[in-house]
Amino acid sequence: MFNQEMYKLGSHRSVIRELFEFGKKRMAEVGADKVYDFSLGNPNVPAPECVRAAIKELADLPDSTIIHGYTSAQGDAGVRKAIADSINARFGAGVSPDAVYMTCGAAASLTITLNALCEDGDEFVLIAPYFPEYKVFVTAAGGKPVVAAFDEKDFQPDFASLAKALSPRTKAVIVNSPNNPSGAVYTKDTVKKLCDMLRDASAKFGKPIFLIADEPYRELVYDDIEVPYLMNEYADTVVCYSYSKSLSLPGERIGYIALSPSLTEGASIYAAVCGAGRALGYVCAPNLFQRVAAKCVNALPDISAYRKNRDLIYGALTEMGYDCVHPDGAFYLFVRALEPDANAFAERAKALGLLLVPGDDFGAPGYVRISYCVSYDMIKRSLPAFKELIASYRAD
Ligand code: PLP
Repeated sequence: MFNQEMYKLGSHRSVIRELFEFGKKRMAEVGADKVYDFSLGNPNVPAPECVRAAIKELADLPDSTIIHGYTSAQGDAGVRKAIADSINARFGAGVSPDAVYMTCGAAASLTITLNALCEDGDEFVLIAPYFPEYKVFVTAAGGKPVVAAFDEKDFQPDFASLAKALSPRTKAVIVNSPNNPSGAVYTKDTVKKLCDMLRDASAKFGKPIFLIADEPYRELVYDDIEVPYLMNEYADTVVCYSYSKSLSLPGERIGYIALSPSLTEGASIYAAVCGAGRALGYVCAPNLFQRVAAKCVNALPDISAYRKNRDLIYGALTEMGYDCVHPDGAFYLFVRALEPDANAFAERAKALGLLLVPGDDFGAPGYVRISYCVSYDMIKRSLPAFKELIASYRAD
Protein backbone atom coordinates (compact mmCIF):
# COMPACT_ATOMS: atom_id res chain seq x y z
CA MET A 1 0.00 0.00 0.00
CA PHE A 2 2.81 2.35 0.85
CA ASN A 3 6.49 2.23 1.66
CA GLN A 4 6.85 0.31 4.90
CA GLU A 5 10.50 1.30 5.35
CA MET A 6 9.57 4.99 5.21
CA TYR A 7 6.61 4.32 7.52
CA LYS A 8 9.00 2.76 10.07
CA LEU A 9 11.34 5.76 9.86
CA GLY A 10 8.53 8.27 10.16
CA SER A 11 6.56 6.62 12.92
CA HIS A 12 9.46 6.15 15.34
CA ARG A 13 11.20 9.31 16.43
CA SER A 14 14.93 9.16 17.04
CA VAL A 15 15.88 8.61 20.69
CA ILE A 16 17.20 12.20 20.76
CA ARG A 17 13.92 13.69 19.49
CA GLU A 18 11.92 11.45 21.84
CA LEU A 19 13.93 12.76 24.80
CA PHE A 20 13.57 16.37 23.67
CA GLU A 21 9.77 15.98 23.41
CA PHE A 22 9.68 14.30 26.83
CA GLY A 23 11.65 17.25 28.24
CA LYS A 24 9.13 19.78 26.96
CA LYS A 25 6.25 17.79 28.50
CA ARG A 26 8.08 17.35 31.77
CA MET A 27 8.92 21.07 32.00
CA ALA A 28 5.20 21.87 31.72
CA GLU A 29 4.50 19.42 34.56
CA VAL A 30 7.25 20.21 37.08
CA GLY A 31 8.66 23.57 35.94
CA ALA A 32 11.43 24.38 33.48
CA ASP A 33 13.95 24.87 36.29
CA LYS A 34 13.70 21.20 37.33
CA VAL A 35 14.51 19.71 33.93
CA TYR A 36 18.07 19.73 32.59
CA ASP A 37 17.76 19.10 28.88
CA PHE A 38 21.08 17.96 27.41
CA SER A 39 19.44 16.15 24.48
CA LEU A 40 19.74 18.26 21.31
CA GLY A 41 22.76 19.66 19.47
CA ASN A 42 21.00 22.98 18.83
CA PRO A 43 23.60 25.78 19.11
CA ASN A 44 22.77 28.27 21.88
CA VAL A 45 25.48 30.75 20.82
CA PRO A 46 23.93 33.43 18.58
CA ALA A 47 24.95 33.62 14.93
CA PRO A 48 27.94 35.96 14.40
CA GLU A 49 27.07 39.63 13.83
CA CYS A 50 28.03 39.38 10.15
CA VAL A 51 25.00 37.11 9.60
CA ARG A 52 22.57 39.81 10.75
CA ALA A 53 24.41 42.45 8.71
CA ALA A 54 24.38 40.24 5.60
CA ILE A 55 20.65 39.49 5.93
CA LYS A 56 19.88 43.22 6.31
CA GLU A 57 22.05 44.18 3.36
CA LEU A 58 20.51 41.49 1.15
CA ALA A 59 16.95 42.29 2.26
CA ASP A 60 17.50 45.94 1.30
CA LEU A 61 18.53 45.14 -2.28
CA PRO A 62 16.15 46.96 -4.62
CA ASP A 63 15.69 43.85 -6.77
CA SER A 64 14.28 41.12 -4.51
CA THR A 65 14.44 38.49 -7.26
CA ILE A 66 18.18 38.34 -6.48
CA ILE A 67 17.52 36.81 -3.07
CA HIS A 68 14.18 35.09 -3.65
CA GLY A 69 14.60 33.70 -7.15
CA TYR A 70 15.98 30.32 -8.16
CA THR A 71 19.74 30.00 -8.41
CA SER A 72 21.50 27.40 -10.55
CA ALA A 73 20.63 23.90 -9.32
CA GLN A 74 24.14 23.45 -7.89
CA GLY A 75 24.10 26.91 -6.28
CA ASP A 76 24.92 30.46 -7.37
CA ALA A 77 28.21 30.67 -9.27
CA GLY A 78 29.45 33.66 -7.20
CA VAL A 79 28.62 31.89 -3.96
CA ARG A 80 30.46 28.74 -5.04
CA LYS A 81 33.47 30.83 -6.00
CA ALA A 82 33.48 32.61 -2.62
CA ILE A 83 33.39 29.24 -0.86
CA ALA A 84 36.11 27.68 -3.03
CA ASP A 85 38.29 30.79 -2.55
CA SER A 86 37.87 30.58 1.22
CA ILE A 87 38.70 26.85 1.32
CA ASN A 88 41.77 27.49 -0.80
CA ALA A 89 42.94 30.48 1.23
CA ARG A 90 42.52 28.64 4.53
CA PHE A 91 43.73 25.18 3.59
CA GLY A 92 45.49 25.55 0.23
CA ALA A 93 43.33 22.74 -1.14
CA GLY A 94 42.93 23.99 -4.74
CA VAL A 95 39.17 23.35 -4.91
CA SER A 96 37.39 24.55 -8.05
CA PRO A 97 34.09 26.46 -7.75
CA ASP A 98 32.80 23.88 -10.22
CA ALA A 99 33.44 21.16 -7.66
CA VAL A 100 31.24 22.84 -5.04
CA TYR A 101 27.53 22.00 -4.71
CA MET A 102 25.31 24.04 -2.36
CA THR A 103 23.05 22.00 -0.09
CA CYS A 104 20.41 22.20 2.63
CA GLY A 105 22.88 21.43 5.45
CA ALA A 106 25.08 18.44 6.21
CA ALA A 107 22.18 15.97 6.06
CA ALA A 108 21.62 16.90 2.41
CA SER A 109 25.37 17.00 1.72
CA LEU A 110 25.61 13.42 2.96
CA THR A 111 22.51 12.02 1.26
CA ILE A 112 23.46 13.59 -2.08
CA THR A 113 27.03 12.29 -1.83
CA LEU A 114 25.90 8.79 -0.85
CA ASN A 115 23.39 8.64 -3.70
CA ALA A 116 25.99 9.94 -6.13
CA LEU A 117 28.50 7.24 -5.15
CA CYS A 118 26.39 4.20 -4.32
CA GLU A 119 26.05 1.28 -6.70
CA ASP A 120 24.43 -2.07 -6.05
CA GLY A 121 26.07 -4.02 -3.24
CA ASP A 122 28.25 -1.12 -2.03
CA GLU A 123 29.30 -0.91 1.58
CA PHE A 124 29.95 2.28 3.54
CA VAL A 125 32.09 2.07 6.64
CA LEU A 126 31.05 4.10 9.67
CA ILE A 127 33.53 4.51 12.48
CA ALA A 128 31.88 4.38 15.89
CA PRO A 129 30.78 6.45 17.63
CA TYR A 130 28.85 7.86 14.66
CA PHE A 131 25.92 10.19 13.94
CA PRO A 132 22.91 7.82 14.02
CA GLU A 133 21.38 9.16 10.79
CA TYR A 134 24.34 7.76 8.79
CA LYS A 135 22.69 4.34 8.90
CA VAL A 136 19.41 5.79 7.65
CA PHE A 137 21.14 7.77 4.88
CA VAL A 138 23.34 4.87 3.70
CA THR A 139 20.45 2.39 3.66
CA ALA A 140 18.14 4.82 1.85
CA ALA A 141 20.84 5.32 -0.81
CA GLY A 142 20.86 1.53 -1.38
CA GLY A 143 24.13 0.90 0.46
CA LYS A 144 25.03 -1.28 3.40
CA PRO A 145 26.48 0.30 6.54
CA VAL A 146 29.44 -1.56 8.05
CA VAL A 147 30.60 -0.45 11.49
CA ALA A 148 34.23 -0.21 12.64
CA ALA A 149 34.95 0.08 16.34
CA PHE A 150 36.74 2.84 18.28
CA ASP A 151 39.50 2.76 20.82
CA GLU A 152 37.86 3.39 24.21
CA LYS A 153 41.05 4.90 25.57
CA ASP A 154 40.99 8.02 23.35
CA PHE A 155 38.02 7.67 20.98
CA GLN A 156 40.26 7.44 17.93
CA PRO A 157 39.41 4.66 15.42
CA ASP A 158 40.31 1.06 16.27
CA PHE A 159 42.53 0.39 13.26
CA ALA A 160 42.38 -3.40 13.55
CA SER A 161 38.60 -3.21 13.37
CA LEU A 162 38.74 -0.72 10.50
CA ALA A 163 41.06 -3.03 8.54
CA LYS A 164 38.53 -5.85 8.97
CA ALA A 165 35.63 -3.63 7.88
CA LEU A 166 37.27 -2.78 4.53
CA SER A 167 36.45 -5.12 1.65
CA PRO A 168 36.28 -5.10 -2.16
CA ARG A 169 32.68 -3.91 -1.67
CA THR A 170 33.69 -0.79 0.31
CA LYS A 171 32.75 2.37 -1.57
CA ALA A 172 33.61 4.88 1.13
CA VAL A 173 34.44 5.49 4.76
CA ILE A 174 32.53 8.25 6.56
CA VAL A 175 34.50 10.19 9.16
CA ASN A 176 33.31 12.90 11.50
CA SER A 177 35.92 14.92 13.36
CA PRO A 178 35.33 16.87 15.60
CA ASN A 179 32.99 14.10 16.53
CA ASN A 180 29.38 13.92 17.50
CA PRO A 181 28.88 12.36 20.08
CA SER A 182 32.36 12.08 21.65
CA GLY A 183 33.80 15.57 21.08
CA ALA A 184 37.06 13.85 20.10
CA VAL A 185 39.16 15.28 17.26
CA TYR A 186 41.15 12.89 15.08
CA THR A 187 44.84 13.54 15.62
CA LYS A 188 47.37 14.07 12.82
CA ASP A 189 48.66 10.59 13.53
CA THR A 190 45.16 9.09 13.23
CA VAL A 191 44.58 10.89 9.94
CA LYS A 192 47.89 9.65 8.56
CA LYS A 193 47.18 6.05 9.56
CA LEU A 194 43.65 6.25 8.20
CA CYS A 195 44.74 7.67 4.84
CA ASP A 196 47.61 5.17 4.51
CA MET A 197 45.21 2.33 5.24
CA LEU A 198 42.69 3.56 2.64
CA ARG A 199 45.45 4.03 0.04
CA ASP A 200 46.68 0.47 0.67
CA ALA A 201 43.15 -0.97 0.52
CA SER A 202 42.36 0.97 -2.68
CA ALA A 203 45.52 -0.42 -4.29
CA LYS A 204 44.77 -3.96 -3.06
CA PHE A 205 41.17 -3.91 -4.33
CA GLY A 206 42.07 -2.05 -7.53
CA LYS A 207 39.53 0.74 -7.05
CA PRO A 208 39.33 3.96 -5.06
CA ILE A 209 37.83 3.91 -1.60
CA PHE A 210 36.40 7.37 -0.99
CA LEU A 211 36.68 9.31 2.23
CA ILE A 212 33.53 11.24 3.12
CA ALA A 213 34.45 13.95 5.63
CA ASP A 214 31.34 15.07 7.50
CA GLU A 215 32.51 18.37 8.96
CA PRO A 216 29.77 20.45 10.57
CA TYR A 217 31.95 20.93 13.67
CA ARG A 218 35.24 21.84 11.90
CA GLU A 219 35.27 25.36 13.36
CA LEU A 220 34.27 24.26 16.87
CA VAL A 221 37.63 23.31 18.39
CA TYR A 222 39.29 24.43 21.59
CA ASP A 223 42.82 25.00 22.85
CA ASP A 224 44.49 25.49 19.43
CA ILE A 225 43.75 21.93 18.37
CA GLU A 226 44.39 21.45 14.66
CA VAL A 227 41.82 19.66 12.48
CA PRO A 228 43.67 18.40 9.39
CA TYR A 229 41.93 19.20 6.08
CA LEU A 230 41.36 15.73 4.70
CA MET A 231 41.56 16.58 0.99
CA ASN A 232 45.15 17.64 1.59
CA GLU A 233 45.89 14.21 3.04
CA TYR A 234 43.83 11.94 0.79
CA ALA A 235 43.05 12.48 -2.89
CA ASP A 236 39.66 10.77 -2.96
CA THR A 237 37.99 13.00 -0.38
CA VAL A 238 34.51 14.50 -0.49
CA VAL A 239 33.83 17.17 2.14
CA CYS A 240 30.26 17.45 3.43
CA TYR A 241 29.97 20.77 5.20
CA SER A 242 27.22 22.69 6.93
CA TYR A 243 26.80 26.13 8.48
CA SER A 244 24.36 24.72 11.06
CA LYS A 245 26.88 24.71 13.88
CA SER A 246 29.69 27.03 12.71
CA LEU A 247 27.35 29.99 12.06
CA SER A 248 24.60 28.75 14.44
CA LEU A 249 22.14 28.47 11.53
CA PRO A 250 20.66 24.95 11.85
CA GLY A 251 17.16 26.08 10.94
CA GLU A 252 18.26 27.81 7.74
CA ARG A 253 19.42 24.58 6.10
CA ILE A 254 22.59 25.65 4.34
CA GLY A 255 25.84 23.83 3.60
CA TYR A 256 27.87 22.48 0.69
CA ILE A 257 29.68 19.53 -0.83
CA ALA A 258 33.27 20.13 -2.02
CA LEU A 259 35.16 17.59 -4.12
CA SER A 260 38.90 17.27 -3.88
CA PRO A 261 40.73 18.52 -7.03
CA SER A 262 42.42 15.12 -7.29
CA LEU A 263 39.26 13.01 -6.89
CA THR A 264 39.25 9.99 -9.22
CA GLU A 265 36.87 10.78 -12.11
CA GLY A 266 36.11 14.07 -10.33
CA ALA A 267 34.20 15.72 -13.19
CA SER A 268 31.96 12.67 -13.58
CA ILE A 269 31.39 12.39 -9.85
CA TYR A 270 30.43 16.07 -9.74
CA ALA A 271 27.89 15.31 -12.50
CA ALA A 272 26.62 12.41 -10.36
CA VAL A 273 26.34 14.80 -7.38
CA CYS A 274 24.25 17.14 -9.56
CA GLY A 275 22.19 14.12 -10.68
CA ALA A 276 21.65 12.92 -7.11
CA GLY A 277 20.65 16.46 -6.08
CA ARG A 278 18.15 16.43 -8.93
CA ALA A 279 16.79 12.96 -8.15
CA LEU A 280 16.36 13.83 -4.47
CA GLY A 281 14.86 17.24 -5.18
CA TYR A 282 17.80 18.99 -3.50
CA VAL A 283 18.37 21.66 -6.14
CA CYS A 284 18.85 25.37 -5.52
CA ALA A 285 19.61 25.46 -1.79
CA PRO A 286 17.94 28.42 -0.02
CA ASN A 287 19.02 31.43 -2.05
CA LEU A 288 19.13 34.04 0.71
CA PHE A 289 21.30 31.84 2.90
CA GLN A 290 23.61 30.86 0.06
CA ARG A 291 24.39 34.58 -0.18
CA VAL A 292 24.64 35.01 3.58
CA ALA A 293 27.11 32.11 3.68
CA ALA A 294 29.17 33.74 0.91
CA LYS A 295 29.28 37.06 2.79
CA CYS A 296 30.23 35.33 6.07
CA VAL A 297 32.48 32.73 4.51
CA ASN A 298 35.46 33.56 6.70
CA ALA A 299 33.49 34.30 9.88
CA LEU A 300 34.28 32.18 12.88
CA PRO A 301 31.87 31.44 15.68
CA ASP A 302 32.45 32.83 19.18
CA ILE A 303 33.19 29.53 20.84
CA SER A 304 34.14 31.02 24.20
CA ALA A 305 30.69 30.18 25.65
CA TYR A 306 31.02 26.53 24.55
CA ARG A 307 34.54 26.36 25.98
CA LYS A 308 33.33 27.77 29.30
CA ASN A 309 30.49 25.21 29.36
CA ARG A 310 32.87 22.40 28.49
CA ASP A 311 35.29 23.34 31.23
CA LEU A 312 32.49 23.55 33.79
CA ILE A 313 30.78 20.26 32.99
CA TYR A 314 33.91 18.23 32.24
CA GLY A 315 35.64 19.53 35.36
CA ALA A 316 32.64 19.00 37.65
CA LEU A 317 31.73 15.53 36.36
CA THR A 318 35.27 14.14 36.43
CA GLU A 319 35.72 15.52 39.94
CA MET A 320 32.54 13.72 41.03
CA GLY A 321 33.99 10.47 39.66
CA TYR A 322 32.40 10.18 36.22
CA ASP A 323 34.58 8.81 33.46
CA CYS A 324 34.46 10.99 30.32
CA VAL A 325 36.64 11.50 27.29
CA HIS A 326 38.12 15.03 27.24
CA PRO A 327 36.28 16.83 24.42
CA ASP A 328 38.55 18.90 22.18
CA GLY A 329 35.80 19.96 19.81
CA ALA A 330 32.07 20.12 18.99
CA PHE A 331 29.77 20.66 22.00
CA TYR A 332 29.28 17.17 23.34
CA LEU A 333 30.57 15.27 26.33
CA PHE A 334 30.46 11.47 26.17
CA VAL A 335 30.25 9.89 29.59
CA ARG A 336 30.56 6.25 30.60
CA ALA A 337 27.26 5.10 32.10
CA LEU A 338 27.44 3.86 35.68
CA GLU A 339 25.94 0.50 34.71
CA PRO A 340 26.43 -1.58 31.56
CA ASP A 341 23.03 -0.64 30.13
CA ALA A 342 23.17 3.05 29.20
CA ASN A 343 19.40 3.08 28.64
CA ALA A 344 18.75 2.03 32.24
CA PHE A 345 21.30 4.63 33.37
CA ALA A 346 19.60 7.34 31.28
CA GLU A 347 16.23 6.36 32.80
CA ARG A 348 17.64 6.79 36.31
CA ALA A 349 19.09 10.15 35.27
CA LYS A 350 15.71 11.15 33.81
CA ALA A 351 14.05 10.62 37.18
CA LEU A 352 16.39 13.33 38.50
CA GLY A 353 15.52 15.65 35.61
CA LEU A 354 18.72 14.96 33.63
CA LEU A 355 18.03 14.26 29.95
CA LEU A 356 21.03 12.33 28.60
CA VAL A 357 21.10 10.42 25.31
CA PRO A 358 22.08 6.72 25.52
CA GLY A 359 25.02 5.87 23.25
CA ASP A 360 23.51 2.75 21.66
CA ASP A 361 22.29 4.50 18.51
CA PHE A 362 25.74 6.08 18.11
CA GLY A 363 27.27 2.60 18.02
CA ALA A 364 28.67 3.08 21.54
CA PRO A 365 26.56 1.21 24.08
CA GLY A 366 27.52 1.87 27.68
CA TYR A 367 27.89 5.64 27.20
CA VAL A 368 25.58 8.66 27.30
CA ARG A 369 25.88 11.91 25.40
CA ILE A 370 25.55 15.31 27.00
CA SER A 371 25.00 18.26 24.62
CA TYR A 372 26.48 21.24 26.41
CA CYS A 373 25.31 23.86 23.90
CA VAL A 374 22.96 25.07 26.63
CA SER A 375 23.06 27.92 29.14
CA TYR A 376 25.94 27.99 31.64
CA ASP A 377 23.36 28.56 34.33
CA MET A 378 21.48 25.35 33.47
CA ILE A 379 24.69 23.35 33.65
CA LYS A 380 25.44 24.86 37.06
CA ARG A 381 21.95 24.10 38.33
CA SER A 382 22.16 20.52 37.04
CA LEU A 383 25.31 19.63 38.97
CA PRO A 384 23.57 18.58 42.23
CA ALA A 385 21.45 16.13 40.17
CA PHE A 386 24.63 14.61 38.67
CA LYS A 387 25.99 14.31 42.21
CA GLU A 388 22.82 12.62 43.40
CA LEU A 389 22.94 10.24 40.43
CA ILE A 390 26.46 9.00 41.14
CA ALA A 391 25.67 8.80 44.88
CA SER A 392 22.65 6.62 44.12
CA TYR A 393 24.93 4.11 42.37
CA ARG A 394 27.44 4.16 45.21
CA ALA A 395 24.60 3.40 47.63
CA ASP A 396 23.44 0.35 45.59
N1 PLP B 1 26.47 15.23 10.80
C1 PLP B 1 26.66 15.33 12.11
C2 PLP B 1 27.83 14.67 12.72
C3 PLP B 1 25.76 16.06 12.91
O1 PLP B 1 25.98 16.15 14.22
C4 PLP B 1 24.66 16.69 12.29
C5 PLP B 1 23.67 17.43 13.08
O2 PLP B 1 23.65 17.45 14.29
C6 PLP B 1 24.51 16.54 10.91
C7 PLP B 1 25.42 15.80 10.19
C8 PLP B 1 23.36 17.18 10.20
O3 PLP B 1 23.60 18.54 10.11
P1 PLP B 1 22.61 19.57 9.41
O4 PLP B 1 21.68 20.06 10.47
O5 PLP B 1 23.47 20.65 8.87
O6 PLP B 1 21.88 18.83 8.35
